[in-house]
Amino acid sequence: MPKRINFAKIIEKQLPAELVNFMWMAGEIAHTRGEKLYLVGGVVRDLLLGQANLDLDLVVEGNAIELARRLKKADQAKITTHSRFNTAKLQWDDWSVDLTTARTESYEKPGALPTVQPSSIEDDLARRDFTINAMAIGLNPGYYGQPLDPHGGRDDLKAKVIRVLHEKSFTDDATRIWRGLRYEQRLDFHLERKTLTLLQRDIAMLDTISGDRIRYEVECILKEKYPEKVFRRAAELGVLPKLHPALKGDDWMVARFEQARATCSPEPPEAGLYLSLLAYSLTAEEMGRFISRLRLPKSLAQDLNDTIALKGKMRLLATPGMSPSGIYRLLDGYTSSALMANSLATESPAASQNIHLYLTRLKDIKIELSGKDLKRMGVDSGPDIKEIMELLHKARLDGKISSKEDEEEVVKGRLEAKQS
Ligand code: ATP
Repeated sequence: MPKRINFAKIIEKQLPAELVNFMWMAGEIAHTRGEKLYLVGGVVRDLLLGQANLDLDLVVEGNAIELARRLKKADQAKITTHSRFNTAKLQWDDWSVDLTTARTESYEKPGALPTVQPSSIEDDLARRDFTINAMAIGLNPGYYGQPLDPHGGRDDLKAKVIRVLHEKSFTDDATRIWRGLRYEQRLDFHLERKTLTLLQRDIAMLDTISGDRIRYEVECILKEKYPEKVFRRAAELGVLPKLHPALKGDDWMVARFEQARATCSPEPPEAGLYLSLLAYSLTAEEMGRFISRLRLPKSLAQDLNDTIALKGKMRLLATPGMSPSGIYRLLDGYTSSALMANSLATESPAASQNIHLYLTRLKDIKIELSGKDLKRMGVDSGPDIKEIMELLHKARLDGKISSKEDEEEVVKGRLEAKQS
């Protein structure tokens, strides 16, 4: 048995004073309402690991929405409520608190959303994904800081293992497969032996999960510090093909993700860049299926489709001695994630340099004369204006002209040539 631990001190040491005060106050208000309030889930895990986590999840044995309204009065915060699930969110500038009513869940069909009923904290912890996420801390006066760990989460944290609570966990909700891999790789833990066997047994259950829920899991992975570790592990265990059978979580992908981070630093790479690299080996047709399986939003679908379209132009882009305007013509209109993905993926240093030139200089080169200016100078028809503007832009790109005066000279020359 692990030593009994009281979290009051840990909370005080690791969370900002305002949040600590809020939890005290919330515990007292819940108490006066005859309700029991707990801090639960990821934040408890992270408190024990000594890691910062300002997303607080509170569970109340009572009524979450009514309690949240009462708390909002006492501490000015923005509130959002969902009456269907009896949950509420309180939001300040720097942090937020999710408040839910303790509930039990039952799964009528694998992968479907569960039927929920108000219940006790014990039942609420029993519906969770992994032991390390199934701990709670009491917040009521008299219980403040007392841990509740019915599934041995603390032992598993010490042993660095990810363990499901029961045999049907992945069947009930196969998104837990992705969640398990994500925690394993983030925390540098390992899947407990039986959990690993169950996970591999239930990989096919991922087919019961809707595109929206799978996409959410993928988005969570892409926000991790090292998403490539999760995808590599998923490939090793045969989970990755469930996103698309042709995806490869190999050394190539790992190296490209690392390069993407180095290139974008200090910002993390955009989701579209990571996804384009992950899916780089797919054909256009395969990409279409990948996009619809994940029900990707338009902007991400555009990144992926552009990536494949551009891949087909890489050979041309590697031609020695290309003019800047030639590079511009090839690359104009593609998303920056698709351009960056191709720059990182191509074997050709020349093609990569050309993309770099486009992204850092060419794409922002504009002409100074407007359509109105050209009209004023005597260019009259629409098609002529368009043609001259393109000519000026090309000359700018190729460095033949560099000022408004230069542009005016070119236009005058054109008009004179036309008149003579
Ligand atoms: P993270 O650090 O990635 O935010 P978290 O543990 O806070 O992790 P959330 O996705 O915010 O994770 O979920 C909060 C809690 O809800 C989890 O700790 C877990 O107890 C529970 N939970 C979330 N998703 C599931 C699921 N699919 N099945 C069971 N329990 C879940």
